[in-house]
Amino acid sequence: MLTSQDLKSALNSLDLGGKPAIAHTSLKPFGEIAGGPEAVLGALLASVSGLIMPTFTYKTMVIPEVGPPNNGLTYGRYRDLNRMAEYFHLNKPADALMGILPETLRRYPGAMRSAHPILSFAGIHADDMLETQTMYNPLAPIGALADRDGWVLLLGVDHTANTSVHYAEKLAGRRQFVRWALTRRRILECPGFPGCSDGFEAIRPNIEYVSRRVEIGESFIEAIPLHPLLRAVKVEIKRNPLALLCQREECERCNTIRQIAIDM
Ligand SMILES: [Zn+2]
Repeated sequence: MLTSQDLKSALNSLDLGGKPAIAHTSLKPFGEIAGGPEAVLGALLASVSGLIMPTFTYKTMVIPEVGPPNNGLTYGRYRDLNRMAEYFHLNKPADALMGILPETLRRYPGAMRSAHPILSFAGIHADDMLETQTMYNPLAPIGALADRDGWVLLLGVDHTANTSVHYAEKLAGRRQFVRWALTRRRILECPGFPGCSDGFEAIRPNIEYVSRRVEIGESFIEAIPLHPLLRAVKVEIKRNPLALLCQREECERCNTIRQIAIDM
């Protein structure tokens, strides 16, 4: 069974230099961990100067019958899902899809959560980063983290969970989408919604030279410095406008980006 001390030693070996980080996690691959998610969070907080995680809430999304074109979705197809939409509030738990750790962080004493109705982040010692988020720039906290020479930490997950690649896509000028979210009073339009992440593992060879990795238990922790990651994604998309898209035939967001590239 893994202990908090094992995790701390593993994180220590990554030599994060007292910088802040964004973490993406799946605890299952690690097997049993003494103390559960709280122990993992404790080890993370002991290893970085500030920590943020996405606490996204996709169940707040509603899709109208009509809307802007080239938006990576087919309008009118979402009536059933719209009926099940849940309104956003600051204490709404993060989607289970994010893993258990973001929710553990959100509930941690002293944690702050940003107020975006779909793409919120929670953080500790990261209020200044979270406060940069706006409706037009929902992934701004990642930019603020880069300004502080921060890290991306992947615990038991690959780059398909790496939200920072989305931020780099936006910097590279890639199409962003519009989505809508239910709040207590009204439906909010949410521009700057990112594309699909299913093809993000393709960035791995380009950042191998700056990535650090440690095996622990049945799984691994990877640390990637944010600056070179953002640069690598921008360079790759400039080189190939179709880079990092997924190959699923029915993927509407990736197909929209392909179509825009053909039209240009
Ligand atoms: Zn896709």
